[in-house]
Amino acid sequence: MHEASIAVELLKVVEAQARQAGMSRVSGMKLRIGAFRMVVPELLSAAFEVVGQGTLAEGAEMRMETVPLVARCERCDEDVAVEDYVFFCPRCGAPLLEILSGKELDLVEMWGEGGESP
Ligand SMILES: [Zn+2]
Repeated sequence: MHEASIAVELLKVVEAQARQAGMSRVSGMKLRIGAFRMVVPELLSAAFEVVGQGTLAEGAEMRMETVPLVARCERCDEDVAVEDYVFFCPRCGAPLLEILSGKELDLVEMWGEGGESP
């Protein structure tokens, strides 16, 4: 369950950005999470609820958007959607070494009281 460590990292980012924006309370946030992260949204949400206790992001709503995993096959010179974490080109069987998207863990926006969302 690596969601707990992600939640801790996320909280650091949220707190830093909230302070920078002069927000006194974070009531919600939107995240983009790459499929490569293998994050279970429910677990991340539950973990954040725990680590967020007593912080300005306590009880914040989390909206998560999953970014599909896409890699590039150098042999076919094409972008390939990776499914079930099989990193081989479905056409030619070459290993997919270059991941184009799916590693994201971005805080897209957040909202709350005081200040403006970055
Ligand atoms: Zn290929």
